[in-house]
Order: sequence, then C-alpha cells, then structure tokens
Amino acid sequence: MRYVSTRDQSLAYTAAQAIEQGLSRDGGLFLPEFFPALPDLNTLLPMTYEARAAAIMGLFLDGFTQEELLTFAHKAYGPAKFDCPEVAPVRELHCKTHILELWHGPTCAFKDMALQMLPHLLTASMQKNGEEKTVCILVATSGDTGKAALEGFKDVNGTRIMVFYPKDGVSDIQQLQMVTQEGGNVGVSAVVGNFDDAQTGVKKIFSDPAIRETLSQRGYVLSSANSINWGRVLPQVVYYISAYCDLVKAGKLQMGDTMNVCVPTGNFGNILACYYAKKMGLPVGKLLCASNANNVLTDFLKTGIYDRNRPFYNTVSPSMDILISSNLERLLYDLTGSDQEVRAYMEQLNQTGRYEVSDQVKEAIRAQFVSGCCDDARTLNTIEKVFHQTGYLMDTHTAVAYTVLQDYRAATADDTVTLIASTASPFKFCDSVLKALGVTEQRQGTAILEQLTQVTGKAAPQPLASLAGKAVRFTEFVEKQEMPAVVDRFLR
Ligand SMILES: *Cc1c(COP(=O)(O)O)cnc(C)c1O
Repeated sequence: MRYVSTRDQSLAYTAAQAIEQGLSRDGGLFLPEFFPALPDLNTLLPMTYEARAAAIMGLFLDGFTQEELLTFAHKAYGPAKFDCPEVAPVRELHCKTHILELWHGPTCAFKDMALQMLPHLLTASMQKNGEEKTVCILVATSGDTGKAALEGFKDVNGTRIMVFYPKDGVSDIQQLQMVTQEGGNVGVSAVVGNFDDAQTGVKKIFSDPAIRETLSQRGYVLSSANSINWGRVLPQVVYYISAYCDLVKAGKLQMGDTMNVCVPTGNFGNILACYYAKKMGLPVGKLLCASNANNVLTDFLKTGIYDRNRPFYNTVSPSMDILISSNLERLLYDLTGSDQEVRAYMEQLNQTGRYEVSDQVKEAIRAQFVSGCCDDARTLNTIEKVFHQTGYLMDTHTAVAYTVLQDYRAATADDTVTLIASTASPFKFCDSVLKALGVTEQRQGTAILEQLTQVTGKAAPQPLASLAGKAVRFTEFVEKQEMPAVVDRFLR
C-alpha cells in the first residue's frame, strides 16, 4: 500500500518513508491511498490487544512482517508499560454508556497509546529505508506530549530525545513527571517563557540548515513526534476496533450492531482514527466531537466554516485548548478526494485564518459527525454529578465528552449504545477534579495525589504515585536563544 500527501496525490511513498518523513515536503499530511476492509471481526474476538494491534496495523504497513509488529506491540503495550492486561479497558457507566479508558500507560494520558508504538515504527522504518543515522526527536510541549514522548523513546536503540517545556507553563505534576525522567538517551530542559517560546525555538532549530549539517556530520538526523505523523494516527485506529470487540464479547452489543463514539477533541487525531475505523467497516453510527470553550471545531462541523479568528481560552481541559486542528486536513482530503481543494482551503487558512467548505463536504460531515461544546463550569459539574451518582471518577477532558453526549441525547431520540473515549486519568488533573468535588484547600506537589485519594477512595496510578520518591535529574533552565546550544551539547 502506498501513501500520498493531502496536498499532492501524485507523490507516492512506502509506509516506511511516510513514517520517517512525518510531514510531506509540500506541507501536506500522509495518508494511505485506500483504506483496507476490516477482517471478519469474529477472528479478532479471542485475540489479546497486542495481537489485535498487529493484525490491524499490518493491513496498512506493507514491508513490515506480522512477527515484527507483534514484537512492537508487546514492547509498547506489554505489562512492563501498561498497568492492565486489557491495555485499553472498557468500563460500563450505564447500559448504553461505556467508557474506553485510554490512560493505563506509563504517563496516564491517551498519548501513550500512540507514543509507545511510534518509536518502534520509526526506528524500523529508518532501517528499512537504509538510514543509518541516529534519530534525535525534538519536542516542545505544553504538558502531556513531552512526557509521553520521553517514555516512548526512553532507551530505544538508535534514538535520542530532547524535550523543552515552558518554565512556568506546566503543572507541578507535569513538571515532576519530566524532570525525573529516566533513561540514558533523554534530555529535558525548561525554557524561560511560554509554550510559544519553546515551540518557536524548536521550529527554528528544525529549519536551520547549519545545525542540521553539523548534526548530520556527527551521525544524527532530527525528527519530531507530533501528532501529524501517520505512525501516531494508526495505533489509535486499533483501540476503537478492539473496544467494539470487547463490547460484543461482554454481550453489550450483538455483532453488527451500531455504536456511537464520543471523543474529547483537540488536534482531531483521536476522532479521526475512529472515522478511519468506521471507513474500514466498523459499525460506528455518529461520531460525536466534543470541545471545550475553544469551540472552533464545534462551529466548523455544524456550519462548514472554519474560523480561527476568535479568542483563545485557557480551560480546565488544557490538552484541548487549540485553535488549529492539524489533523482535520486528513478528513478534508478524504471527503473531497481532491488535493487541489485541500490545498486551497489550507492556503485560505494560512492567509485569513478562515475557510468555508463546499456544500458537498458539508453534507458528508453532517451525515457522520455531531459536534458540541461545554464550558468549565459544566465540565466540573459533570465530574461531581457522575461521581456521586455512579462512583466513577473522570478527568476534565472525559467530562467534556460526557457533557456533550448528554446534550446530544437530550436533543435527539438517539439512544444508541455509545463509547466515550476517556483520554486522561483524573489524577493527572487533581486540582480541577478536587475543585469539582468542592475541595478548595489543596495540597502542593505530589501531596495533592493523596488528597484526591482521601476524598474519593480511588488509588492514584502507580506512575504518578511513585513520583514522590524519584530523584530530580533535570534542573536546567535556559533562555530561548540558548536552545540550539542545549541541543548541540546534548548531541556531543
Ligand atoms: C491530546 C489530548 C486530547 C486531544 O486529542 P486530539 O487527538 O488532539 O484530538 C484530549 N485529551 C487529552 C487528555 C489529551 O492529552
């Protein structure tokens, strides 16, 4: 199977080339030329998550053997990394509402599902392409991605990883997660400034030919781990298919029954993966796209007008605070089938911050997607209500999805069984969750984890609980203009 760019479908690449390059040179995103049909789902029912992952990813990855993919799946999702054998367990909230917990990996957020797999796909791709250099991943992070990338690339042969985070822009827990990072190939540095400063610094390093040349002579090639890489989208397709199988096995669905899926959305990667699973034949009905106060996607999916010219809000669900959803470009390509049309939309977005899709695209979107948003007050209210009614404790991002689902059900007669993607452990966002439960006097540092346990009776996930005893390894902070020097020293 070949991969093409959303902005130029005449360029065709192998899977390994698409994964190594990440972003196409024309600025477009890679996607497969066609989507393979799912195998008979009955064959997946008895399999473990790891085996399902290898079987499904194998449909897209010519040039990778099943044996290779099984090995990767075991390294990525095995007991050394995930704290439950189901990997992504499905919990019943009510008989029509099920929660797909995507946060049982080493950093307790759903980014692990893809970033545990990407390093294996990337290093194998480089070997297949005959690339002999060591890859160095550079990341600027506002919180979740940096830690998940560090854990994914930690001690993976043939890789190094350097993460920059804004010195005063991440939570105590997030900072602790990064500065205590273990592994022989990792580096972490704070940058004085905000996330944009860190991000701009990293982009400058990527686009500086002199730095690339120097590093190349030392045997390094730079790469990124952000969510536009096909190697991050593909592992996410797996869990929707796997969850459907689990619901059938548990008798909650009959094979062939439709399920709706509701996803708290930022960069549109997670919900896009579900769209692809549906395209392959998974019986998914509506795709519910849930946003917080940054509701650019809610408006787009309702009206066909994407307009990023609007205020930006810092919310209690920070991983969804985003005004440009990069992966939407892949959906547009799929719905138009035209690289020319996608190029025109992206050009308008660049120039004016706005574009309007054709009537045909609007109709296709309306047939499959539902969108909704909710503010912080309703998000916190949902956490409190669900906890007291059912005993289930959810994080802020999951609560946005739950709220949007309730709104949809109240407005329609649709009572289809629905799967909610739960994207983070509530212990990653202790301060907001405690606030939702009415606790305003909050403890500092890791003591806040114990406080949430005392209030709810729930245990903190081990990777967060064990932060308390960990040695701090990375205390460096630098001005943003020093970032190239940090990378230079790191790759000596
Ligand atoms: C990244 C993230 C999201 C948004 O996912 P997208 O794939 O960008 O739509 C939602 N919740 C959490 C906790 C995240 O870390």
